[in-house]
Amino acid sequence: AWVEPEIQSLGEAKVAAFLKAEPGLKKHAEHLRNSLRQARHTLSAETEGALAALAPVRSATGDVRTLLFNANTRWPEITVGGKAERVDDTRYGLLRQHPDRAVRKQVFDAFFGAIGQYEDTYGVTLGNVVQDDTTLAKLRRYPSAVAMSLGAEDIPEAVYRTLVAEVHQGLPTLHRYFKLRQKMLGLPDLHYYDIYPALVTQTKTYSLDDAAALTLAATQPLGEDYQTLLKTTLQANTMHALPSPGKSGGAYQDGVYGAPPFVFLNHQGDFESVSTFAHEWGHGMHTAMANRAQPYETAGYSLFVAEVASTANEVLLSDHMQRQATTKADKLFQLGHALERLRGTFFRQAMFGEFELNTHDAAAKGEALNGKRMTEIYCQLLKDYHGDAAGVMKIDPLYCQEWAFIPHFYRPFYVYQYATSITAALHFAEDILSAKPGARENYLKLLAAGGSVPPYQALKNAGLDMATPAPYRAVIQRIDKIMDEMEALLTAP
Ligand SMILES: [Zn+2]
Repeated sequence: AWVEPEIQSLGEAKVAAFLKAEPGLKKHAEHLRNSLRQARHTLSAETEGALAALAPVRSATGDVRTLLFNANTRWPEITVGGKAERVDDTRYGLLRQHPDRAVRKQVFDAFFGAIGQYEDTYGVTLGNVVQDDTTLAKLRRYPSAVAMSLGAEDIPEAVYRTLVAEVHQGLPTLHRYFKLRQKMLGLPDLHYYDIYPALVTQTKTYSLDDAAALTLAATQPLGEDYQTLLKTTLQANTMHALPSPGKSGGAYQDGVYGAPPFVFLNHQGDFESVSTFAHEWGHGMHTAMANRAQPYETAGYSLFVAEVASTANEVLLSDHMQRQATTKADKLFQLGHALERLRGTFFRQAMFGEFELNTHDAAAKGEALNGKRMTEIYCQLLKDYHGDAAGVMKIDPLYCQEWAFIPHFYRPFYVYQYATSITAALHFAEDILSAKPGARENYLKLLAAGGSVPPYQALKNAGLDMATPAPYRAVIQRIDKIMDEMEALLTAP
């Protein structure tokens, strides 16, 4: 905490002179530039000290939410197929995919009923986070809370607002998807509890070796260097892939400078696991390439670019699988899988982003936010996104409590990056697959840049401006194209 004020007190001219005189400072240039950029948002030493001292008090809100949700809520029990099931967070995630619609409704009613009891309390905890963020943005002389959050990494506010506006414009495509879902599932109407069962089921299983072979085959368009490095890195034995007793769930990648990337998976043998393999090794390769090209100081990268590297591999895998599909069922499965991913990552994360924007904008205007008001704001978005007024899907009021269940809202303006990342990943993957001149080189350069360039600028250098509508419109078009293909397959004999 004492380094930044020292750098800022030197001022731009002096730092520039130091950089010119001492070549050894070059690897610190990005850090120095960033530090100077923050100077006008840094408060007096006394105020900064007071804010730092109050930090544990300010962050306690999130702890209250975690305790209430994880420890203090008595999750209800329901009976599924003669067996008692407690609908907690984990079981909700599984049971909401149940093929029996009556079970899904029971699960939703139980889960959101339990959360809804605490609407007032969640309203206070989340309202506090929004208020804290909004006040801090004002104190630090930012035009808005979203500008403060994105400004930390020099990402323009326009990226966020363009994403939200463009996705909202594209909602008719999402409504078309729900209509298709209703038809494929053979349902008389559509409710919010109908969005999770898979459109097409597949019983095929994949071993860990299959996952590696498919990831290698799918990333062939990235070129020989990527392939060779991926092969060597896979042989470094730094992956723990199979589930085992006592092991925590999920999947992630962790990079340590000077070492091969560490990958943690829970391989289940379904296609989703293969996709996760490709995803996490996308992160792994990003780490390996940045570590190879950058000094320690600039090897670490931002989430804004990290999820591009991982999601691009998923897109390449999906494309590879679609080309390999020999039966109509396989092809439909792959197209359905790609669609689900886009619904969850592009539309849903943008909806969360819009909720954050609306609640923060309301707080900035001085509106008092309580649980009821949050539910109202969230409900309107659920209805817009799922076509309630257009007769696409009925949103039952109880499910509007969902906002209280999303832990990410306690880290404001974070999840939008999943939507921007899949947008960027599709852009790069499509250009590379169609062998557009320079596309592969630009993309590999982006991975190798690590954290040496601010993330928005890094994408711009690779030919993609995330503050413009074009990349988001391309995603909407792609989703429509997938549905065209699916509809053609469904009507074909
Ligand atoms: Zn990831």
